[in-house]
Amino acid sequence: MSRMIESARPTVIAANPDQWSEKSKQSVAFGFRREYRDEPYNCWHCKAASLFTAQEQKYTFEVQKASINQSRILCEVCWQESNRIRAALRTCEEAWTLSKVELKTDEAFLGRWLQLLLQLEQYVPCKPDTAKRSMLSKLLAGAKTDGRKRDGGCDKSEK
Ligand SMILES: [Zn+2]
Repeated sequence: MSRMIESARPTVIAANPDQWSEKSKQSVAFGFRREYRDEPYNCWHCKAASLFTAQEQKYTFEVQKASINQSRILCEVCWQESNRIRAALRTCEEAWTLSKVELKTDEAFLGRWLQLLLQLEQYVPCKPDTAKRSMLSKLLAGAKTDGRKRDGGCDKSEK
């Protein structure tokens, strides 16, 4: 006989749509959703088999008031990583707002920012921020040219 370690956790729990956000209450699901059921999925980034548990669903939709149409695409590890990247991006944005003039020619800063944008694309299957990317690429190219002039011509071109 196999011992089910996970048997203590319910795989199906009752839903209380009255606790949903106002927007979720207007969805079709409001009329018929009576329960949450463990939802298996594969992480969009690392492909790991993951589970959006019934309990997590209840918390997400009823406490955090997330849209009932929301589904999980990242595993826990990748979710944390994507949040870390987002936080780092916010720091870049803030620094940019404060000292645009100096940072415009800061190769290290621009490179780091661009790298973060590219990293985030690995975790988010939506339209990338191409406008910001091309702005950074352009500034970075300019900053590198300036640097080269100052350094007396380092000819290490990437792409
Ligand atoms: Zn993952």
